[in-house]
Amino acid sequence: MGNGAKAAQKRERNAEKNAGKGGKSQAKVNEAAKSIVCAVCRQPFLITTRAPALEEHSSNKHSKSMAECFPNYGK
Ligand SMILES: [Zn+2]
Repeated sequence: MGNGAKAAQKRERNAEKNAGKGGKSQAKVNEAAKSIVCAVCRQPFLITTRAPALEEHSSNKHSKSMAECFPNYGK
């Protein structure tokens, strides 16, 4: 007796924790999303985009350096 209730409580708390965590980070992602914009073609990138991907875009699409296309990156 008591064990089942405790387990259920624990499960509930975990679910709450996970939901809160996921919701918060998702909102944060949405808020910050697409805050990197290519200065040349205005293509938006997620803030989480890594430098190599931006560099690839710069050289592949524009034959430019990353600094020319994304002067604000990392600032
Ligand atoms: Zn571009």
